Amino acid sequence: MDQEFSRSRVSFDNPYERTMNMHFIRKLPIPRDVKQEYPVPEELRSVRSKNIQEIEAILSGNDDRLLLIIGPCSADREDSVLEYLTKLKCVQTQVEDKIKIVPRIYTNKPRTTGDGYKGMLHQPDPTQKPDVPQGILTIRELHMRALTETGFSCADEMLYPEQHRYVDDLLAYVAVGARSVENQQHRLTSSGLDIPVGMKNPTSGDYTVMLNAITAAQHSHTFIYRNWEVESMGNPYAHAILRGYVNKHGASLPNYHYEDITRLSAMYQKREVQNRAVIIDTNHSNSNKQYLEQPRIAREVLLQRKINPEIRDLVKGFITESYLVDGAQKPEDEHVYGQSITDPCLGWEKTEQMIFEIADLV
Ligand code: PEP
Ligand code: MN
Repeated sequence: MDQEFSRSRVSFDNPYERTMNMHFIRKLPIPRDVKQEYPVPEELRSVRSKNIQEIEAILSGNDDRLLLIIGPCSADREDSVLEYLTKLKCVQTQVEDKIKIVPRIYTNKPRTTGDGYKGMLHQPDPTQKPDVPQGILTIRELHMRALTETGFSCADEMLYPEQHRYVDDLLAYVAVGARSVENQQHRLTSSGLDIPVGMKNPTSGDYTVMLNAITAAQHSHTFIYRNWEVESMGNPYAHAILRGYVNKHGASLPNYHYEDITRLSAMYQKREVQNRAVIIDTNHSNSNKQYLEQPRIAREVLLQRKINPEIRDLVKGFITESYLVDGAQKPEDEHVYGQSITDPCLGWEKTEQMIFEIADLV
């Protein structure tokens, strides 16, 4: 029997030996073994590499297209996510001179109170009990199929830095969420990622927290990662994401307006960082989850880019929550194919319209 497993059992049985109050259910495979079993084929590695270079070129200002990170709040099932990606691919080919699309395949969900669907890594089937070993395989397969079948390398949230290694050879973009951005392990791990990482403003809205995360991620650090002493190289493509914020009364307030962005620009200028960039999140506290407002929010920001060259240089794109069907459903009692089970999303027809509109305005 695994030593840790037996030790935790002793603590359950014997109230005098207090260690940790949890069961060690089973040991997970290490990322290297999972990757050896399901490797990324050579030809897909170069597809991914080209995707990453294009995103970096946009963030550094060498490519003046707009970045559009778009997709469901959470990837809940493989078939509907892949159908969504296939539709996106078709639109991408029509707007590729204006917009670079990076689909969201978010397999880990931070929960405000800890309750609810934690994403595919924990629950590969949202209607069934958690099953992490299966979840690891499922998220790897989904990111792999996205790349194989559509040529998209996708974005995911790095909610658990240690688990990022199960998919780190498949992604092209990572976001550090509003609830994680002040955390040391997220910042240090970001400094060792070889793909662009977006740092969200924290739920409190404090820009300094986000800018500190960017500074930390752009520098080299020595730290502990997956039981190793490691040295990171620093990530020059760590940048900001404005997602709106929540005040002390619990009210959602936006931060995509002209003054919000010029203020960020001024604070950014004082930092010794490379590739200053911001992505505007059109949902979350910016829309107050009024998901239908997302196209209007994008339109307003594009107008600001036209008014002020400083904003044009800084704002590199949007992150938008979109899926096949408008809105959201409760995972317990509804099973609408292609409708979000976490935050409400813009449905497909409105999404397509929004992308074409952005392409016209950019
Ligand atoms: C999300 O992108 O779905 C998300 C959870 O974002 P945030 O961290 O900004 O709440
Ligand atoms: Mn969301």
